[in-house]
Amino acid sequence: MRFLTGLLALAATLSGFSVPSLAAADCSAGPGTARVLEVDPAGLEVGTKHFPQTLDLAEGEFVLTFDDGPSAGTTPMVLKALAAGCVRATFFLVGTRAAESPALVKRILAEGHGVGYHSQTHPMTLADLPYDKAVRDIERGIVSVDRAATGSSSASPHFPFFRFPGFGSSPQLLAYATNRKLGVFGADLWASDWEPMTPEAELDLVLTRMAHVGRGIVLFHDTRLQTARMVPALLRAMKERGYRVVHVVPRGVATAASPQVAPQ
Ligand SMILES: [Zn+2]
Repeated sequence: MRFLTGLLALAATLSGFSVPSLAAADCSAGPGTARVLEVDPAGLEVGTKHFPQTLDLAEGEFVLTFDDGPSAGTTPMVLKALAAGCVRATFFLVGTRAAESPALVKRILAEGHGVGYHSQTHPMTLADLPYDKAVRDIERGIVSVDRAATGSSSASPHFPFFRFPGFGSSPQLLAYATNRKLGVFGADLWASDWEPMTPEAELDLVLTRMAHVGRGIVLFHDTRLQTARMVPALLRAMKERGYRVVHVVPRGVATAASPQVAPQ
C-alpha cells in the first residue's frame, strides 16, 4: 500500500497536479484532523493571551494557525507537511501577499484549510494608526484576499475570521470587527518563531508550551523557513503524544471538503 501510494504520489508530482485526496489515504505523517468546530464569527474573540476566553477545546486539542503568508518560498512546504499528516489549519493572510500569490491562496483553500484576514499591509499595529486609516487597511486586506481566493469581493467578507497584526487591537477596532461580523482570533500559545532559532529548538519550545497549556490556538508564521522546516516533525510529535487537531470553521460557510480523520 505504501509502495502504491508512493507510486501514485510520484505520478501526481510528475504530472504537476496537487492531489490532497491521495495524501489523505495515508495519514501516517501526522495526527489527522480529529474534528471540525463550527463557530459563530459575530462577536467571537478567542485566545487567552489577549481575551478572557478561548475556543471550546478539550484537553489535548489544538487549533493550528499560520500568519503573514502566503509566501511562495515557505507556504508550499507547510502545505505539503499538513497534507501528509491530514491536518487542517487556518491561514491568516496579509492582503498584499495574497494579491501577489493568488494561486497559493486558492491552493490553501482547495486543500481544505481555512483562511482569515490579517490586514492589507500588516501595520504594527493597527491600534497605533488613526482609526479611519486602520479600518481602511483592514478593508483593503479583505478585498485583496477575497479577490485572490475567488476573483471577486463583495460587501460581506467571504472568510469571516480576522487576526490583528501583533495582536494590536483597540476597543474601537474590536467593535468594528464585531459590526463586520468578523470573528477575532488571538492565540493561547505560540512558537515565538519571529525569533531566529533552529527548527529543532523551535520544536522543543512549542512542544513544551503545548504540554504546559494543554489545549488551545497555536500561532505560527508560514513565512518563516525555520517553521516550515519544523512542521513535519511537529505533526509527528503531536501524533506520538496523542494530541488532536481541531479545524475551526465559521458556521454556515462551506469548506472545500470534509475533514480526514486519521486511522486509530
Ligand atoms: Zn502577523
